[in-house]
Amino acid sequence: MCQEIGHLFGLGHTSEDGSTQNTCMDYSNSPTSTAPNQHDYDQPAAIYAHTDVPPLSVAGRFRVRGGW
Ligand SMILES: [Zn+2]
Repeated sequence: MCQEIGHLFGLGHTSEDGSTQNTCMDYSNSPTSTAPNQHDYDQPAAIYAHTDVPPLSVAGRFRVRGGW
């Protein structure tokens, strides 16, 4: 559920090979991969803080890596 909510905010997978980056956005089964890490909080702040494009264009310019 954490990963799906991350996707809604525009986050992609941090890995898809089972390695852990200590975030729910990786594909690891590690107990340390069950919650967002600081990078996950920093990314939406950077994504939605754009001041160089009109707000309605932000979503169209950002592409989520990987699938669901
Ligand atoms: Zn996913």
